[in-house]
Formats: sequence, structure tokens, C-alpha cells
Amino acid sequence: MSRLTLFKETRVQAAIDDVLRDAERRLYVSPFGNCHVNLTASLLKLFHAQSCGKCVPCRVGLSQLGNILEDILKGRADHDSLALLEKTALSIYESADCAIGYEAANTVLKGLRDFRDDYDNHVNCGACSPNESDSVPCASRCPAHVDIPGYISLVKAGRYADAVRLIRKDNPFPAACGLVCEHPCETRCRRNILDIGINIRGLKRYAVDNSGGAVPVPPNAVKTGKKVAVIGGGPAGLSAAYYLCLMGHSVIVYEKRNYLGGMLRYGIPSYRLPREELQWDIDAILSTGVEVRTNTDIGGEIPLEKLRAQYDAMFIAIGAHTEKKLGIKGENLRGVLSAVQMLRAIGDGNLPDFKGKRVIVVGGGNVAMDAARSSVRLGAANVTIAYRRRQDDMTALSEEIEGAIAEDCELLTLQSPAKIEGDADDNITALWTRPQIIGPIEHGRPVPLDADKPLQRIPCDILILAIGQDIEADHFVKFGVKAQRNVIQTLGDGSVEGLSGLFAGGDCATGPATVIRAVETGKAAAANIDNYLGFDHKISVDVEIPAPKPENKKYWGRVNMREKEPSQRKDNFGIMESGMSREEAEQEAGRCLRCDCSGYGAFRGGRFAQW
Ligand SMILES: Cc1cc2nc3c(=O)[nH]c(=O)nc-3n(C[C@H](O)[C@H](O)[C@H](O)COP(=O)(O)OP(=O)(O)OC[C@H]3O[C@@H](n4cnc5c(N)ncnc54)[C@H](O)[C@@H]3O)c2cc1C
Ligand code: SF4
Ligand code: SF4
Repeated sequence: MSRLTLFKETRVQAAIDDVLRDAERRLYVSPFGNCHVNLTASLLKLFHAQSCGKCVPCRVGLSQLGNILEDILKGRADHDSLALLEKTALSIYESADCAIGYEAANTVLKGLRDFRDDYDNHVNCGACSPNESDSVPCASRCPAHVDIPGYISLVKAGRYADAVRLIRKDNPFPAACGLVCEHPCETRCRRNILDIGINIRGLKRYAVDNSGGAVPVPPNAVKTGKKVAVIGGGPAGLSAAYYLCLMGHSVIVYEKRNYLGGMLRYGIPSYRLPREELQWDIDAILSTGVEVRTNTDIGGEIPLEKLRAQYDAMFIAIGAHTEKKLGIKGENLRGVLSAVQMLRAIGDGNLPDFKGKRVIVVGGGNVAMDAARSSVRLGAANVTIAYRRRQDDMTALSEEIEGAIAEDCELLTLQSPAKIEGDADDNITALWTRPQIIGPIEHGRPVPLDADKPLQRIPCDILILAIGQDIEADHFVKFGVKAQRNVIQTLGDGSVEGLSGLFAGGDCATGPATVIRAVETGKAAAANIDNYLGFDHKISVDVEIPAPKPENKKYWGRVNMREKEPSQRKDNFGIMESGMSREEAEQEAGRCLRCDCSGYGAFRGGRFAQW
């Protein structure tokens, strides 16, 4: 008999690992339904099983919590039970010997705090929120609630123009979103239960690419005689303008810059979103009759009061275009730029010359990656991305970070900018950084702290700051629009409090977000402005959705999008992502479980054919 044996994975252990991996995927997609009380009760059983049972609060207390939750779920509880639940959880939280116990209790406390209405409803009505309804997870996760199973089935049927028409019912930017949407819809796709989620964004791109040219928009409703001004020609403003025109209102979009598109033109680089694709969406929007005044700065050259007097309603969608500053010495040196300033110049066709230059980009978000990868394409000798946290903490999409690394950008993590060094002619010569050590977790993210190490000097010719954007709202604030922490304050319907007929949306009202969130706010503003003007127009589309076909749903891999090799994409701004082939699109569309028809979703009994 050996004294010590070497670890060897057994077949049993491998099988258990497989089951756990499957369970993890399933749990992520469909965590015990949508009832938070039920979810907490199920999690508590799991936590109890994970407890070592040595301390009484954890061993006995968690099972007591489980009993109370069971009573709540079975309709046997009253408000005293809720008080007992809280008291018991608090006492476990304060007395359990280790984090396993107090974190379990903390889950109950957080649930009680965040979903109090659900608990009260269980006690009062014996069920979760009275209006609770399951919905198709992909469509409910898409902020614009695009009918995803509907358009996927149209792609499968080869009816690409119909797919575009269906998408436009909820989102007038199918081409742009097919390329750059961050696709929150894919996170909870139920196909993950079997193997892996559907490539929803990729199928949208395929529908657009194969729709056969311009896809006509629906006819406008009868003219209402009402006039609406939209300030800002980005995705939020243009979405509102599109739907308002379809509803029969006259709309004029005022845009400060030369061209429409907002950050889709003046932020997102063309290697991710070619301008002709963006123009395809804009042309369709303008074909409804939206009028445009470019090179017009509202608040600056045209006072808001004047505009307000001319229109029945106004939608403010000015985005977030001013750069945040580091607040350190040397920020005014020649060679220090903001990412927004640099990408805007590229959007206007003025490509800066970075040939042979050493570039540092400060930041860890998508904008930082766009600035770094654009610098590579502008001929920089080397590009370093300096970030004060770790790579894991970067907010940029992982594919963006990997893409930047593949294009030879160097990541310099746990380095916080300390000062910027310049020469006698005020040209930047180096960035000095302060090394960081990762610290305590606050609001779910570890906070970096100054490490006990000396400052580091990184020589550079260009420093690009990509640390966030703010709004330019002074004129609007003077007009009475409330802004807090640089975000315009709106009510739940997008209206601006105290200024009737005034609505706001997009980045200026949400803070810097995404294209599809901007579209969502534009769509909501259109509906609520229509009501404000005394109408109740509905937006619908006459596209028949194919019935689902019973198919062999084998485990099947997902068709991912492919990119050009780094060597082919690094020196140009041509699109880097390749679309799917017909075979790939049909296969991918065929993997959709059609949750709209399989009894899962709110589409049961009739899909949301109009809004
Ligand atoms: C570099 C970068 C990359 C990004 N990448 C992605 C991505 O891959 N995927 C994604 O989903 N999102 C991405 N985003 C975010 C996305 O572009 C924005 O969330 C979205 O464009 C916001 O739309 P918006 O209409 O609110 O504002 P904007 O797109 O900013 O449009 C606002 C418009 O208002 C105009 N304007 C401002 N003030 C005035 C005025 N006083 N008078 C008249 N006009 C005015 C501006 O010129 C602008 O055209 C990115 C953003 C940046 C900066
Ligand atoms: S717009 Fe974005 S979130 Fe909505 S369905 Fe398309 S990819 Fe998904
Ligand atoms: S399987 Fe299809 S319908 Fe179901 S969530 Fe995924 S994309 Fe949506």
C-alpha cells in the first residue's frame, strides 16, 4: 500500500463534472423560474447542502429559513412570518462562523430588500406579482423587444426582406445592430439549456445582407397636423423620428454635425460598422418623410425657447459627447487627446497621422478598445492600453479585448495615471503611472489601491483618454431641464418633469449605454409623445410568421462570426467581420427552439403584433 497516492480523475468524477457543467448552464439560463421567493428558497437548499454544519446558526438557522420560505410559497404565511424571516436571517448573518453561512443569510436579506413587493404579494395574494408573466427570454432581454423567434423563422424560410420588416417594427436599425449590437438577447437564450445560445445578432446581419437592397418601410398614418422637433440625429433621435412619422406626425431632426448617425458615425469605427451599412438604415428612416437640418446646434445657434414655441412636442436626444478628464498634471500638453475627439475626427473623414508614433490609451471599456485598434490602423509604432484594474475587470467585451491583443496592442494593467510629462515645447513625452494592488470588492467590483511600488515611466508621443463621456447640457439646464450627475432626469415615460411636451432619451438620459438602449428610449418616446398629442397610433407589420416545424433537435454547435486575420485587418478600416454563409444561417436558424410557440412565453395566445 502506497503512503501517498497521486490524484487521478475517475470516470465517476468526470461524469459528475459533466452534470455540474450542464446544471450551471441550465441554471444561468433559467434560474428556477421568475419568482424571486421561489428562487431564494431553492438557493437556500443549495447553500444548506454546502454548509459544513459545524456552527448552529448555519446548520439549524438555514433550515428554519427554508421552512419559513416554504410557508410563504404555500400561502401559509402572514406578515409576522416575513418579520421572523428577516430576524432569523439577520441573526445568522451576524453569528455564523464563516462566509458560507452569513452569505446564505445575506441572500435572504437582499431578496427581502430588493423584492419586497413579491414577498408581500405572496402573503397577500398567495402568488408573485399579480402581473407576472413569463416571456420569451431573448425577446424580453432585447431592450427594444424585437420579435426574435419570428425573424429567425423568417431567415430559416429564406424570407429575408420580411425578417427586416419584422425587426423594424421594433428597431429601425437592423443593419447597425446586426453588426454592433451587444446582443443582451443572447445571454438567456433557452438553447443554452441544450448546448449553446443562438447567434441572434449574426442572423440579423444575414437577413439584412440578403434582403435584396432597400426594404420599403410601411405607409405613414394619415397626417395629424402635429409637429415634433427631435434634437440629435443619433439612434435615439432617429428611432423616435421614424416611429413618429409612421404615426402621421411631421418630424424635423436637428443635428449639430455634418451627418446623421451620432456615435454610430462619430464613435464606432468603420472596421466594425461600415458607413454604407449605417446609411442603409438612415435612408429607410428618412424615406418616411423625416426632415433633417444638419449643422444646426440647438441651444447654441437656435435657442430652445424659439424651438419650443414652434413645435407641439420635443424630444431631446443629444447623446454624451464631452470627454471626462483625468484631473492630473500635463493634460493640456500637445499629443493628449480624448478618444471621442479622435474617433469624431475619423468619422468626419479627418484621419490623424499616427505613423511611427508610440500611443498609450487609458481606459478599459469598449471605447478604449476602439481607440487602441483605430490607432493600430492609423500606423502607430506601438499601442499600449493602460488600465488601473485587472484585465478581468475591464468593461469592454472580451472579444474586443482579445481582438486588440491579436492586433498587437499591449495591455498594461493595474497602473493608474499619475502625471503626464512634456518637453520644453509642450509636447507630451511620457505617461507616469502609479502601480496598483487589487483591493476590496465594492458594488461587485474589486477596487484598486495604490501599491507600495515606485511610479513607472512609459514614453509616448500620443496619449488617448477613454475614461468616459458626459453630456453637454448647459443650454438645456438653463431652459429648465433637470440634470443630475450629467444625466438628464426623466420620468418613467421619458418626459421631462415640469416641462410639458418635452421628452428626453438615449445616452443623455441613461448615461453612456448602447445602440439598442438608445433605440428603446426613442421608441418609447414616440409612443408617449403620440399619446401626449392626443392619439393612440399603433405600430404593426403585416408579416406572417412561419409555423414551427418539428425538427430533430440534436446537440449542435453554434455558428460564430469570423473575423479577418489580424495581418489582413490591421492596416485598414475595412469591415473585419465576415457574415454567415447561407448554409450556416439556415443551420443556425434551425437551432432556435421557437420558445414563442412551445408554451413558454408571453407570445402564447398571440404575439405582440403591435405596440
Ligand atoms: C467609441 C464608441 C463605440 C461604441 N460601440 C458600441 C457598440 O459596439 N455597440 C453598442 O451598442 N453601442 C456602442 N457605443 C454606444 C452607442 O454608440 C451609444 O450608446 C448610442 O449611439 C447613443 O445614442 P444617442 O442617440 O443617445 O446619442 P448619440 O449617438 O451620441 O447621438 C446624439 C446626437 O445628438 C447630436 N447633438 C448633440 N448636441 C446637440 C445639439 N445641441 N443640437 C443638435 N444636435 C446635437 C450629436 O451630434 C449626435 O449626433 C459606442 C460608443 C462609442 C463612443
Ligand atoms: S437588437 Fe440586439 S438585443 Fe435586440 S435582438 Fe438584435 S442583437 Fe438582440
Ligand atoms: S431558442 Fe430561439 S426563441 Fe428560444 S430563447 Fe433562444 S433565440 Fe429565443
